[in-house]
Amino acid sequence: MIRDQETLNQLTDIVERFVRERLIPAEEELADNNKVPDSIVAEMKALGLFGMTIPEEYGGLGLTMEEEIHIAMALGHTSPAFRSIMGTNNGIGSAAVVFDGTAAQKEKFLPRYASGEWIGCFCLTEPDVGSDAAALKTTAKREGDHYLLNGTKRYITNGPVADTFNVMARTNPEVKGARGISAFIVEKGTPGITLGPIDKKMGQSGSLTCDVIFENCPVPAENLIGEEGNGFITAMKVLDRGRLHISGVSVGVAERLIQDSLEYAINRKQFGKPIAEHQLIQAMLADSKTETYAAKCMTLETARARDRGENVSTESSACKLFSTEMVGRVADRAVQIHGGAGYVSDYAVERFYRDVRLFRLYEGTSQIQQIIIARNMIKDAS
Ligand SMILES: Cc1cc2nc3c(=O)[nH]c(=O)nc-3n(C[C@H](O)[C@H](O)[C@H](O)COP(=O)(O)OP(=O)(O)OC[C@H]3O[C@@H](n4cnc5c(N)ncnc54)[C@H](O)[C@@H]3O)c2cc1C
Repeated sequence: MIRDQETLNQLTDIVERFVRERLIPAEEELADNNKVPDSIVAEMKALGLFGMTIPEEYGGLGLTMEEEIHIAMALGHTSPAFRSIMGTNNGIGSAAVVFDGTAAQKEKFLPRYASGEWIGCFCLTEPDVGSDAAALKTTAKREGDHYLLNGTKRYITNGPVADTFNVMARTNPEVKGARGISAFIVEKGTPGITLGPIDKKMGQSGSLTCDVIFENCPVPAENLIGEEGNGFITAMKVLDRGRLHISGVSVGVAERLIQDSLEYAINRKQFGKPIAEHQLIQAMLADSKTETYAAKCMTLETARARDRGENVSTESSACKLFSTEMVGRVADRAVQIHGGAGYVSDYAVERFYRDVRLFRLYEGTSQIQQIIIARNMIKDAS
């Protein structure tokens, strides 16, 4: 749902200009230094980009899902790590409080996420628990007016720079699956939190991840999000929305890769003419364009359905599955169209090829999306 087309157009124009004039020129600096420059973070804050999805009453822009997808696509035109620094505040780092937080939690945390004063992160994955997230082992034992957290969370995006950790932990060890899990918001500086070394990743340099270790970490009982035992349901709601967002980003990155490939193909000459005039190059360009268009249509349509209040669990997973696999193929063709130049770092496609690999892995791998889609199909048919 687009509440006011003119306002959305203005915001999209601002973001597109910011991407074009500030972020794209800083891509190499980001990759080389593994850090989003402070001046750019400050500009993101000033533009309100940390609070795009946070309700207006808490200082955010309160974008609908459809509006968010338009902005995610615009942000996708540059290195995904730029989006990542504000991505957790707009998604997995704040959404649990937005969906299920108490009034006091909303008052305390959301304005700080919206302004970018605080960075939030989402701690579900563990060393032994990834796709089978309901089997998580981190425990939260109630002791008087607080819970004691113990466990290790792995690959936590923005963990190294986070001010709050949105942690899924088992409050009821008797219940093995999802119903024994609760969600907590843990503030940096709480005793018993240790951060592991920053992970060395294949791509998305500048987006930092690390282990977050909790050892007898006392979390006030008022920091429980929702009710005890409902944490996994909260986490799945968070991921449902996140999957659509990642689909939008994948479309944006694919558009950027097509743009770079087209420009290269028009300028590069072989056999006496631009390679863009060779039909086998045209086939790759056309396939990339077609698949990107398909992903864009399905993502926007699902976003509209979600805004109408429909259950889009199956469709969100279908969008994530298709869009993230699609951008992998588009990145591969982009390297192919660039020939040897696509394999060296002088051209952005080499970096994007590595960056987009992550989209098929986090917030549920492609296999997990297939499982969700098929499970829902079978449930609906029975
Ligand atoms: C850079 C990065 C950032 C991340 N950020 C976060 C974050 O902020 N917060 C967070 O909580 N997590 C985060 N993650 C973790 C991410 O969500 C997990 O890595 C992902 O869910 C997969 O879990 P796993 O790595 O344990 O793989 P596994 O679950 O061990 O899976 C390994 C392989 O087995 C397949 N597989 C597993 N189960 C099945 C099955 N039933 N049927 C068929 N195939 C199956 C998987 O698809 C995969 O191919 C991040 C990961 C990375 C790499």
